[in-house]
Amino acid sequence: MTHKLILDGKSVADDIKSKLVDRVCALNEKGIKPCLATILVGDDPSSATYVRMKGNACHRLGIDSKRVYLQTNTTTDELIDVIRQLNEDPNVHGILLQHPVPGHIDERAAFEAIDLKKDVDGVTTSGFAQNAFGLADYPSCTPAAILAILDYYQIPIEGKHAVVVGRSPILGKPVSLMLLNRNATVTTCHSKTKHLDQIVQLGDIVVAAVGKPKFIQGEWIKDGAVVMDAGYNPGNVGDVDYETCLKQASAITPVPAGVGPVTIAMLLKHTVDAAEQAMKERHTAK
Ligand code: NAP
Repeated sequence: MTHKLILDGKSVADDIKSKLVDRVCALNEKGIKPCLATILVGDDPSSATYVRMKGNACHRLGIDSKRVYLQTNTTTDELIDVIRQLNEDPNVHGILLQHPVPGHIDERAAFEAIDLKKDVDGVTTSGFAQNAFGLADYPSCTPAAILAILDYYQIPIEGKHAVVVGRSPILGKPVSLMLLNRNATVTTCHSKTKHLDQIVQLGDIVVAAVGKPKFIQGEWIKDGAVVMDAGYNPGNVGDVDYETCLKQASAITPVPAGVGPVTIAMLLKHTVDAAEQAMKERHTAK
């Protein structure tokens, strides 16, 4: 049997976080504590768990986390008001609006209210556009995590055919653009794509970002392809059928402990980046 590489997200996350320790200390010495504000609207238990996990990860690294819990019936205007207050707060360096928000809220309007300088998950149209040009300070965290895993394991991207299943603004689309910027040939698939199995079979790199448990089947995967599973469904299940895809793939991310921990590490990194940037701007303004 050929060797299978299990792409261990925890090692990648630890590598990213270890490089942040000295930077956080240097900021602390200057009286600055990097701070990530997370906003949760409603009481969805999975979202509450994600927010808690992000807050705990911050604390372990000496990063402040400000958690804002809003009731399910919060209006779009009320949410935007909260975001504006966080924009104005000099002690907050990154803002993360946990998505999805309840259906009555205009999620796009809320995302757009986030100051670009604090948009550590690349959710604003300006952040997205900068990412499309390869110029973003803070590309969306999960796409950045997928690229970081490929780079950590020195998996070549240039010239490879990457097939991305999913085109959401926070995941499928930005990861497609980031792979394109790294000279992959990219096919982005979605719910109206025909002959999905045949298209996935062309992929040297397959990114699953569908939101459907065990959706990508092993028989769709080309022998020796690299499978990146961004999915995270109830019961710790990814968007690929792990057992059957493992048989075909040369390398694969598990769920859990694949893309998830690296996404959180990216969020921490972007928060530290933003705190350093804010400090530089304060010095320049003096
Ligand atoms: P989303 O907004 O629901 O988008 C899902 C995408 O999949 C859409 O583009 C949709 O196509 C496409 N799709 C749905 N059914 C399909 C089908 N039968 N065939 C082909 N494409 C199909 O989800 P998301 O926010 O991008 O999240 C995707 C997954 O990643 C979820 O499992 C989520 O939990 C996970 N996630 C993980 C992390 C992490 O840190 N690991 C972070 C964020 C998200 P249309 O555009 O045509 O509707």
